[in-house]
Amino acid sequence: AKESGRNAYRFYRQEMQQQITERALLEKALHSAISKDEFYLVYQPQVSEYGQLIGFEALIRWFNEELGLVPPNRFIPVAEEVGLIDEIGNWVLESVCHQLKEWQDLGLPPTFKGVGINISPYQFAKECFVETVYGVIERTQVDPSLLDLEITEGMLVENITSVAEKMWRLKEHNIRFSIDDFGTGYSSLRYLQHFPITQLKIDQSFVRDLTSDPQSHVIINTIVSMAAHMKLSVLAEGVEHQEEKEILNNIGCLKYQGYYFAKPVNVGMATHYLSSAITF
Ligand code: C2E
Ligand code: CA
Ligand code: CA
Ligand code: CA
Repeated sequence: AKESGRNAYRFYRQEMQQQITERALLEKALHSAISKDEFYLVYQPQVSEYGQLIGFEALIRWFNEELGLVPPNRFIPVAEEVGLIDEIGNWVLESVCHQLKEWQDLGLPPTFKGVGINISPYQFAKECFVETVYGVIERTQVDPSLLDLEITEGMLVENITSVAEKMWRLKEHNIRFSIDDFGTGYSSLRYLQHFPITQLKIDQSFVRDLTSDPQSHVIINTIVSMAAHMKLSVLAEGVEHQEEKEILNNIGCLKYQGYYFAKPVNVGMATHYLSSAITF
């Protein structure tokens, strides 16, 4: 027993060591990812109850020679921790606006409202965030009302005044805000009044449990009816099955995003979706 305990410890130590090495490798590679052009964006369709394309969410991808395709859930927290998220976030902003301007010039379908861009709390907290966004709009000549900045609930409960002030300044330029992963954070809708928010994105965990857990049904119902009172739009994330779409539709949630409709796609496919009047 003693022997196996020692082996287990050695194994544990090796595991730990391996994790530390992997993390160090990742961090090192992350530092040169922008200059090596290793990031790219994919776009996931957002659709209306009739299956029309109403928007995209831009999602970052990182391919590194040694590490392969690293999912954002793995590298975004590291980027936040080591202070690289600002640079990466600005790259995302710049790239999306560039792309949007191209699409804008091709002519957007009337149902299409714009692109959701994930903003890290660290990126938003930067003193110069508002100016950075203005600068990108200036350079790219994108229509700012096509930008839908996705922020998280947690961000709204810290430094309320400075966060609100930044949001209102961006709102003056017709930039929109969505609350991402709604329902997982502080869930008090009261504080939402202070901020110029246009949309709530219902977290995919509620949608996933919708058919099995009555409580998720209740939560989504509550979010939808309160959002209606506050004149906020609601979009459900992570819709994977027709049944989920139908239940959501009955509850009154009329915008969706998820594998049932479409997975995130590359720029070429996204451009095709935009130009072909496709329904999902
Ligand atoms: P998120 O903002 O909640 O994005 C939605 C995630 O759900 C995406 O994962 C998307 O691919 C995935 N998804 C979409 N439909 C379905 C579905 O039907 N089922 C399931 N199971 N998943 C679905 P992804 O692309 O791996 O991104 C993960 C997270 O990484 C994002 O969660 C977001 O928090 C972060 N992220 C992604 N891109 C960026 C970015 O450009 N900047 C920042 N700061 N964070 C980003
Ligand atoms: Ca998001
Ligand atoms: Ca989300
Ligand atoms: Ca998330």
